Amino acid sequence: MNVPELFGSNVFNRQVMQDKLPKDIYKSLIKTIDEGAPLDMSVANVVANAMKDWAVEKGATHFTHWFQPMTGITAEKHDSFISPTKDGKVIMDFSGKELVVGEPDASSFPSGGVRATFEARGYTAWDPTSFAFVKDGTLYIPTAFFSYSGEVLDKKTPLLKSMAALNKQALRILRLFGNTSAKRVFSTVGAEQEYFLVDRKMFDARKDLIFTGRTLFGAKPPKGQELEDHYFGAIKTRVSAYMKDLDEELWKLGILAKTKHNEVAPSQHELAPVFTSTNVASDQNQLVMETMKRVATRHGLYCLLHEKPFAGINGSGKHNNWSMSTDTGLNLLDPGSTPAENGQFMLFLTAVIKAVDEYQDLLRLSVASAGNDHRLGANEAPPAIVSMFVGEELEEVIDSLEKGVKYNGKGKKTMKLGVDTLPELPKDTTDRNRTSPFAFTGNKFEFRMVGSSFSLAGPNITINTIVADSLRQFADELEGAKDFNAALHDLVVREIKAHKRIIFNGNNYAPEWAEEAEKRGLLNLKNAAEALPHFADKKNVELFERNKVFTAREVVTRTDIMLENYSKVLNIEALTMIDMAKQDIYPAVEGYISSLCAALKEKKGTLPGVSFPAEERMIAKLASDAERMLERAEMLDSLLVESKAYETPAKLALFFAEKVIPVMQELRAYADGMELNTAAGVWPFPTYGEILFSV
Ligand code: ADP
Ligand code: MG
Repeated sequence: MNVPELFGSNVFNRQVMQDKLPKDIYKSLIKTIDEGAPLDMSVANVVANAMKDWAVEKGATHFTHWFQPMTGITAEKHDSFISPTKDGKVIMDFSGKELVVGEPDASSFPSGGVRATFEARGYTAWDPTSFAFVKDGTLYIPTAFFSYSGEVLDKKTPLLKSMAALNKQALRILRLFGNTSAKRVFSTVGAEQEYFLVDRKMFDARKDLIFTGRTLFGAKPPKGQELEDHYFGAIKTRVSAYMKDLDEELWKLGILAKTKHNEVAPSQHELAPVFTSTNVASDQNQLVMETMKRVATRHGLYCLLHEKPFAGINGSGKHNNWSMSTDTGLNLLDPGSTPAENGQFMLFLTAVIKAVDEYQDLLRLSVASAGNDHRLGANEAPPAIVSMFVGEELEEVIDSLEKGVKYNGKGKKTMKLGVDTLPELPKDTTDRNRTSPFAFTGNKFEFRMVGSSFSLAGPNITINTIVADSLRQFADELEGAKDFNAALHDLVVREIKAHKRIIFNGNNYAPEWAEEAEKRGLLNLKNAAEALPHFADKKNVELFERNKVFTAREVVTRTDIMLENYSKVLNIEALTMIDMAKQDIYPAVEGYISSLCAALKEKKGTLPGVSFPAEERMIAKLASDAERMLERAEMLDSLLVESKAYETPAKLALFFAEKVIPVMQELRAYADGMELNTAAGVWPFPTYGEILFSV
């Protein structure tokens, strides 16, 4: 395999544009891509035609506007290129207008009621900053999705807007440091994607996996992950063949798939790409997830992207590595080596610290979902409390700045930002704190709370916007300063003092941390139902409006969509549980109890006077557990009826969190107990042991 040749071979990238487009057209398209210049329809026509010719060469017969509605996954509708001719034949045709705008019949996508009052129509608009590509005989055109009245209906548009806000404010700061060469600042993301691979036959035999993506039942297997023998372990042949195939597919799509390894849990794995600009990383992560699923089918496998497919076994996350970069390639979270670079770094770092402290709620809720609730705080992922890790060296620097004391006692005077240099900061991974939700790792932050099935858009809309807002305030203050270095120093010291409580370098999994965090006044929004309504808090609406990322109305509708999604997921899970309990588990256990009773009766007849107390206890226990389980199924049934009465999404979500989930847990406990007390072969679907060690 020639990887350089394969890489990006199905992508209409800069190289292809340069090869296939007339010089002047290429130039104006690049101007649109790099600087956001408006695109002329005459240019679009030429681009569309070249794109179509290239795609047809690659075997494409259709095109689609590919978009990201608020469902969190992608959507597509395929149109063929054919256009009839007078002689009853067809030609392959694709116009600039078809490239630039689309009009999918989109009335069934969640809009939180935005469209009901206007018009049902939704429009898609080409996003030229993310390359078009060919997949399965179709030309995919990445697009943004909005309503007739201009209201945003997707996850991509606000992500682009948050990047624009960050660009604007970060450039103001760079100019203050005398940087005149950077034309653009954008955030960068590299997302480590965790996933499970299970045998397709196991998957097909479990309604819970089919309907909900996770197991709603399942007793702990004798062997789980306690030996920690899977993490970075040798990759099995079947998995290795899958990973090779996956890499190849991703490379063709121009995705920089780089690292692959086994994760902590049995049958859990990870893929990490090389980082790239956030909107591209977000599009590409959608393709990664989709390709993971598609390729699995070819190998007789199923790829589970749920945050917690198995209770008692580590769940899956998506570590969101985030930084800011200039178009000239400067990483703004790289400390640098001169006093000026150090000062600039400290200012950007302080902006992030302030942002994370002031908007803990937004970060928390950007990763809130029914699935991720199982993971956060389960001692395998960060807790629901947002804090940040900066490392010992930086903490010392921060301390010294804050208290005006000498750094490290090395005979230096107290540090003056913009004048003195920072000590060397290690960039290795040895002192990494892997329990922190938001960790500085040398030249980027790693946001570890993101769930494996999440779109990257939500968390990064949040990070971009809150950091942009800190930078805006810093720029406002420093632009008017007479003595820049003195003002810079004072600002950083003041802001660090104000927001230092968010820094925690200790073990985030320790129970003491929750107490300590409470003393510090940090938020602890335990579940999604509690966290999500804060999206529409006044301060958050104002933040998004000020930075032109969301309108107030969009924030409110999005809050409702997220809350409704939470309740819908739980409703489906509860229904699936009832179904499996009544239709599968109960009949299987009843059959088993009957056979035990019959055998016992026969034995007692044959061996009068002999007693079988253990066997009797076993039968009694099974009979009682079966009864208790059925009771819980009935209770769930009536709770679901009761849930119909809740009118606001926030109240309904709380009802599911507080009333429905506990009964689901009880129901499961009875079922799992019975699983352990029945003979092999009786249980109506594959067990944890069978699924987890199936590949
Ligand atoms: P870990 O030790 O956390 O498993 P990995 O090396 O697997 O780390 O992943 C680190 C991720 O961070 C990669 O996707 C990498 O491309 C990404 N990354 C590195 N530098 C940056 C940066 N400046 N901005 C965003 N992401 C980055
Ligand atoms: Mg990581």
